[in-house]
Amino acid sequence: MKDTTKHLGLRKKLAESLKNKGIEDVRILKAIESIPRHLFLDSSFEAHAYQDKAFPIGAEQTISQPFTVAFQTQLLQLLETDRVLEIGTGSGYQTAVLLEMKTEVYSIERQHELFRNAKRMLPKLGYHSVSLFFGDGYKGLPEKAPFDKIIVTAGAPEAPKTLLSQLKIGGRMVVPLGVETQVMTLYIRTGIASFDKQTFGDFRFVPMLGDRN
Ligand code: SAH
Repeated sequence: MKDTTKHLGLRKKLAESLKNKGIEDVRILKAIESIPRHLFLDSSFEAHAYQDKAFPIGAEQTISQPFTVAFQTQLLQLLETDRVLEIGTGSGYQTAVLLEMKTEVYSIERQHELFRNAKRMLPKLGYHSVSLFFGDGYKGLPEKAPFDKIIVTAGAPEAPKTLLSQLKIGGRMVVPLGVETQVMTLYIRTGIASFDKQTFGDFRFVPMLGDRN
């Protein structure tokens, strides 16, 4: 588990490139600069960790591309102390970004191998206050709801209704919607049964899977 000045230099470049691609929230750029992404990857990919690319992380899943992580995070408009629900912990990298923004994070992963890795890795990197859950993210966490923000990091065929119901009024949920490719979609809860919906272009995600598949 080594982090060097060379890694830091590469992270600065990565943050700079995300800024050039339209990420304006300096807190996000700072988080990208400080989180050692190479430690979230299999060591065979370490040399490429600071390219703006997705990589395999085992269990047929991927660590999201840094631009995608930054873009989804920016859409959430995070405030310190926000209670945030993340679906798809994966490597835990996006989780770390949320934690760097000083939010209270609850994250669910359905692949046990990835859940176990994230549970081991995040505290090693100093992230002790995170609540990680093994299970089906489609169900959300009714016992911890409502959330100020919800982020889904896998492609959902349609808006997950249970998750929308666990959003506070005024809260925001970011979810990539679609089967082959996904349209980045933001829901803002405007009332008990009303939501504002906005879309933000095409992305590619691994599919969000339910209990049965
Ligand atoms: N944020 C992660 C992205 C991982 S890819 C990262 O950057 O590393 C999406 C993740 O969602 C995968 O780990 C996959 O196993 C998980 N996933 C898919 N369907 C899920 C579900 N129903 N509940 C919880 N996690 C799910």
